[in-house]
Amino acid sequence: MPAANSSPESRAKAGDPYRITLLAGDGIGPEVTAQALAVLREALARTGGPLLEVREELVGGAAFDATGSPLPDATIAACLEADAVLLGAVGGPVWDTLAAELRPEAGLLALRKAMDLYANIRPVHCHPALVHASPLRPELVAGADFVVYRELGSGIYYGQPRRTEPLPHGGGERAVDTMSYTTAEVQRLARLGFAAAASGARGRRGLVTSIDKANVLDCSRLWRRVVSQLAVEEFPGVRLEHAYVDSAAMELVARPRHFDVIVTGNMFGDILSDLAACIAGSLGMLPSASLGGGGALYEPIHGSAPDIAGRDVANPLATILSAAMMCELSLDLPAAGAAIRAAVARALDEGFRTVDIAGHGEKGAAIQVVGTAAMGEAVRERLAE
Ligand code: NAD
Repeated sequence: MPAANSSPESRAKAGDPYRITLLAGDGIGPEVTAQALAVLREALARTGGPLLEVREELVGGAAFDATGSPLPDATIAACLEADAVLLGAVGGPVWDTLAAELRPEAGLLALRKAMDLYANIRPVHCHPALVHASPLRPELVAGADFVVYRELGSGIYYGQPRRTEPLPHGGGERAVDTMSYTTAEVQRLARLGFAAAASGARGRRGLVTSIDKANVLDCSRLWRRVVSQLAVEEFPGVRLEHAYVDSAAMELVARPRHFDVIVTGNMFGDILSDLAACIAGSLGMLPSASLGGGGALYEPIHGSAPDIAGRDVANPLATILSAAMMCELSLDLPAAGAAIRAAVARALDEGFRTVDIAGHGEKGAAIQVVGTAAMGEAVRERLAE
């Protein structure tokens, strides 16, 4: 039995398996994570990687139905013990009427807190074969390639006080949420973004765009000061620009190729990275990694898509690409990560499309619209080549 706190590298040397906790979640979560796990296993087998020990636990609506909690203690423990966590998505209309703290989304927020996940990394890349899948003009999105560093552990999603209260005399209700940031919270997120921009790795170009609302919000004024100081003191070689979130949204649509590394707060990052999905062609194309003090969690940026759940039509590529990020950022298996990415690119180049990325401008006998499982299989088969 490997020691609970041994590193993946030391276990690999000892021939012990890597420990993955799988949280399939709700809606399309089980469908897309099944494909990602199968691709991951195949990639490890083909690149001579370690064996995987996969522990499956409940989260979200599925966990609430089984245990009465959207985040059971066993799930937290399994996530903290794992080398990495692979998550599908949580939520759905059947749980929408639950009390706020019992909703599936509350389980995910609590898990991020329990794992101290503070940096959500969302690469956005328009694959050349998918320029027609975007609602934006092909010449705008072609070549777009940037990464969003979204602060994940603070901001308005966690700030206190938060409550909804009745107003006197039948005057309706009042709801309060609080946005809060500390110097340290901004620094630790921004430092990762700057380091990525400075590294030149994966085509990075040394430009950081920090997005805030400093013309209105105190939190954003602090954000801007801290980011500016970090740039001067620690990353003099990185170009830094600041943008207001409203104009940044327009720029993302008008000039997506301009961006290299975006650093931004929790809510702005949440919204802008969904917008960025238009650039990549679909929500089903965007992977993410969440890093922090208590481990790492990999998940597609999309939700549980209840409208298409159980029909074998969901795009599994975002989750498969999340598994590639896991190989690179948590498991120290860059060859397996690169192999997965290359296999996804080949499947797309050869015309495999799920419905969400079967672009209207794209015609030709080579295009094959396939389901979730067949797309996963297409990627697995191309790992071999
Ligand atoms: P969603 O991302 O689930 O779906 C938005 C649209 O994109 C839908 O039309 C859906 O069919 C489509 N879509 C999403 N993923 C797709 C994929 N892989 N392939 C093809 N099409 C895909 O967002 P929503 O509808 O706003 O939310 C549904 C539920 O998911 C809600 O309960 C919400 O709270 C939850 N949610 C969870 C997460 C998470 O678990 N991290 C994130 C966002 C939303």
